[in-house]
Amino acid sequence: MLLIREPDEYRAHCAALRETGTLGFVPTMGALHEGHLALMRSAKQLTDRVAVSIFVNPTQFGPSEDFSRYPRDLGRDLRLCESAGVGLVFAPEASAMYPTNERTRVSVKSLTEGLCGTERPGHFDGVCTIVCKLFGLTGPCTAIFGRKDYQQLKVIEKMVGDLFLPVSVIGHRIVREPDGLAMSSRNRTLSADEHQQALAIGRSLAAAERAFAAGERAPSRLEAACRAMLRQAGLRESYVSCVHPNELTPWPGSIDGPHALLAIAAFAGATRLIDNCLLGENES
Ligand code: AMP
Repeated sequence: MLLIREPDEYRAHCAALRETGTLGFVPTMGALHEGHLALMRSAKQLTDRVAVSIFVNPTQFGPSEDFSRYPRDLGRDLRLCESAGVGLVFAPEASAMYPTNERTRVSVKSLTEGLCGTERPGHFDGVCTIVCKLFGLTGPCTAIFGRKDYQQLKVIEKMVGDLFLPVSVIGHRIVREPDGLAMSSRNRTLSADEHQQALAIGRSLAAAERAFAAGERAPSRLEAACRAMLRQAGLRESYVSCVHPNELTPWPGSIDGPHALLAIAAFAGATRLIDNCLLGENES
């Protein structure tokens, strides 16, 4: 497995790889876990070679967010990438991705306004900008993103479509701990008590899925039931939103399609966690 830190060298290496086969790409911020590795394995099944980027992207963090505290462990990450059969890792310095004369930001409208976009202004501009840069360097035929960051997946799909980028974006199911907590690099910052509290997020989504399967179609009642479970567990809600699965907009009345996205962001202590489910997805 090759580790490259310089953008030009990485671009040249990706171009050479593309001459002999298809190239899959998994962008990450490192502190890898089984969720990331599942994306890499899926990329390996779909393409001949897999490139992974490890880069904690400063432009997607707000001034009061956890950029400096975000977990970093490149040595461990490299071992995990190798174990997943990754051939190439790109781990650039921030100064290489954002040189001082850099002036470009990529912005997707509307889809970025609700959910995480409300509380994290500029977050998705940072995400779209870095993903565009990474796509430009990598030139992948396929890129895999996790549905844990459902809004991010929809925003990237929209960006790729609107900009005619020649890459196929694949969404991967959410990978969970055996106890139901969605895997996240931030989980390692949870205390044992906070981890227990955080289980209420997955439990409330599962309860909402059951209610939806039993015929509940009122977004406000589905949201209220989740909120009550989060509150009871001692979590601080950031948002609980039941929205259209593609537009990410609130339902004007009751849910009138086969699916709805139920998305949650909540704090366990100082750690902000997100999770979601696509209501109706597991029904025949
Ligand atoms: P991150 O390192 O948090 O930026 O995540 C890199 C990629 O891994 C993103 O596409 C995430 O959606 C995806 N990812 C992170 N956690 C999970 C998970 N538990 N299940 C599936 N995908 C995930």
